[in-house]
Amino acid sequence: MPRQIIRRKAYVDTKYCVACGECQKNCPLKAITIYKGIYAEVDFNKCVGCSKCAKVCPASIIEIKEGEV
Ligand code: SF4
Ligand code: SF4
Repeated sequence: MPRQIIRRKAYVDTKYCVACGECQKNCPLKAITIYKGIYAEVDFNKCVGCSKCAKVCPASIIEIKEGEV
């Protein structure tokens, strides 16, 4: 069986995102882009699950969850 690596990542509830860009500004890894000015999109290859984005999101719609990579 292949080894599974579990990593913490940021998940945005995009339907409630107002594209304010606060998460993007505060991500030390530059893992967030605002997709077409509509919602925040996380690059899971860059995200390390530090939760800085989640803390600054005014809508509280970013959740840090564990997932398989
Ligand atoms: S959890 Fe950290 S690394 Fe991941 S998107 Fe948010 S601020 Fe960036
Ligand atoms: S801080 Fe929250 S509301 Fe603002 S762009 Fe990021 S996810 Fe969307």
